[in-house]
Amino acid sequence: MTKYIFTLGGVVSSLGKGIASATLGALLQARGYKVRMRKMDPYLNLDPGTMSPYQHGEVFVTEDGAETDLDLGHYERFANISCHKTDSISGGRIYHNVLTKERRGDYLGGTVQMIPHVTNEVKAFLESDLTDEDFVLYEVGGTVGDIEGTIFLEAVRQFMNEKGRKNCCVVYLTLLPFIETAGELKTKPTQQAVKRLMEAGIQADVLLCRSKIALGEDERKKLALFCNVPSQNVVAALDVDNVYGLPISYHEQGLDTSVLSYFDMPSDVDLSKWKQIVNTMNHFQKNVQIAVVGKYCHLPDTYKSLKEALVHAGISENTKVDIDWIESDLLEGKSTKEVAKALEKYQGILVPGGFGNRGVEGKITAVQYARENKIPFFGICLGMQMAVVECMRHLCGVKDANSTEFTSDCTPVITRMSVWEKDGIKTIRPEKGDMGGTMRLGAYPCVLKKGSLAEKLYGTKQISERHRHRYEMDINYESVLAEKGVVISGKSPDGLLPEIIEIPEHPFFFAGQFHPEFKSKPFAAHPVFQGFIRAALKKASE
Ligand code: GLN
Repeated sequence: MTKYIFTLGGVVSSLGKGIASATLGALLQARGYKVRMRKMDPYLNLDPGTMSPYQHGEVFVTEDGAETDLDLGHYERFANISCHKTDSISGGRIYHNVLTKERRGDYLGGTVQMIPHVTNEVKAFLESDLTDEDFVLYEVGGTVGDIEGTIFLEAVRQFMNEKGRKNCCVVYLTLLPFIETAGELKTKPTQQAVKRLMEAGIQADVLLCRSKIALGEDERKKLALFCNVPSQNVVAALDVDNVYGLPISYHEQGLDTSVLSYFDMPSDVDLSKWKQIVNTMNHFQKNVQIAVVGKYCHLPDTYKSLKEALVHAGISENTKVDIDWIESDLLEGKSTKEVAKALEKYQGILVPGGFGNRGVEGKITAVQYARENKIPFFGICLGMQMAVVECMRHLCGVKDANSTEFTSDCTPVITRMSVWEKDGIKTIRPEKGDMGGTMRLGAYPCVLKKGSLAEKLYGTKQISERHRHRYEMDINYESVLAEKGVVISGKSPDGLLPEIIEIPEHPFFFAGQFHPEFKSKPFAAHPVFQGFIRAALKKASE
């Protein structure tokens, strides 16, 4: 029978619930169990697609085209699974569903209330689309006590009561602050957070305590006594400097053992592959320096999957990838000499995805520098669009080439997509339609050109990658670019949408309209990231 695990957070936010949940998923998987991982976000947006990275960090896109929280990226990377649309829900979506049903007359004659209508909608999500999973792990975003999260906690309480408490385990992530002057870890905030959770009718079963230092027996006993958990279920979540070390660390501290003994399901664990990558990462033999020229560079979460994909490629090449995040607008209005000074120390330049006007000219400058100086270049989504604009401007002489996302006063080489096809179905987007959920989203097939770099990297003729964009290169410029040695090496199967451009004469110049970073895994680096790092290593050895 399926077991349900809820990861909740207390005391403060940003304790890493997503990573903790993903780590537990990985540990259960390392014991041979089938896991499913899900996230509930209490905010009122229908999904994070309309939020700025400043608010939310990266928007992670699933295969089936859901715009979700970046924690789903952790789940996919740690547990090596592919999440679905049905694995992520927001408070807004729950209320939206309830109100849609109300208008349709589903509750005709009744008063629509938080309990049971809203809680039933949450419970329907908890149980939807499950197959034969051994464990389903649910993370509730935010901190216990947040007003928006109340309805989710109430639904979880009801759900656990219905499923039988012994089939449901609550892992509560809290913080044990270390008070320097007293030289000790403080348990009181955790005690109070546990009480707060009990006000919602939920008893924590395992306490996962974020802590700078190891827990002493005293603290463990105290927490067990005050918080009503067996002392072996008080687990220290120690700070680590490498997230891929977490499965080993949490296992050593007893997280998976506690959860499985709660369910009375003892089993063996095989962590050899985790030990192997940690060992590789502790003894990298080579290193390269990569510049990511983007827009939200001071926020580490904005390019989460991208950063991890570079790390994965580094692991596969036994190489430490040093990443410098460069705000693209800093390259604007600079002389060639100044641009060279900013970029000359890098063996690879990557221009990632993005939205909006600010900094785009700086991205074009970065592409130009990489192209002219034969520095390995990798463009992703907006990065590809800017590569097309750069080549059109500086190779093909179309000085006002641009994307209509930024100006209408230009030669429009990148234009808004109004119609495209998926699985034989046409999607049409009117000019003044909604902004939320209307991009080209999720996995689409792409056919690769024979003999191209793309085909060499992927080792196949047709690929599938995840998209999230509103604009696309106009295919009519294909021959103009081809004359100057810029090749469209990947297209949608109907041949209408350019998906990849490359320059065969350049050591490595690859740009794709999709986001390959979403599919990279620590144990299976993405082939394009791998190729990029290999090219950077070659550059480093020159
Ligand atoms: N802003 C561009 C578009 O919507 C690129 C999006 C992206 O980089 N994800 O097409």
